[in-house]
Amino acid sequence: MSILDKMGLSLGESSSNSCLILDCGRYPDIHHIMSRGSGAGDHRANCVPLCRMHHTGMIGIHVKGRTRFAKDHPEFKKWLLDHGWEFSEITQKWFLPEHLLREVLRT
Ligand SMILES: [Zn+2]
Ligand SMILES: [Zn+2]
Repeated sequence: MSILDKMGLSLGESSSNSCLILDCGRYPDIHHIMSRGSGAGDHRANCVPLCRMHHTGMIGIHVKGRTRFAKDHPEFKKWLLDHGWEFSEITQKWFLPEHLLREVLRT
C-alpha cells in the first residue's frame, strides 16, 4: 500500500465536514458504500460523507440505492469516479476494479 493510500485511510482529510451533496451543507454521517457486514472497511473509496437525510432519509442512498442516487446526484457520480469506481453499462451497476476491491476488503 502506498503512502498516499495510507493517508487516504484517515477519513478526515479528503472527506469534508459537510454532506457531499451540493448545497446541502448538513453535518455528515459516514456511509460505507460496501457494508462492513460484507467485510469492507474504512478505505477512502468506501466512505462517503452524507447527512442523515441523504444517508438514511427518504431521499437517501439507503432508500434509493447506489445507482439511482448517482443518477440523481452528479456530485456523487463524480465522487465515485474520483475514488476509482467504475460503472458497467451491461449490469448497470457500480463496481470496484479488482485491485481496489482487494484494498477495501482488507481495511
Ligand atoms: Zn450507510
Ligand atoms: Zn445532505
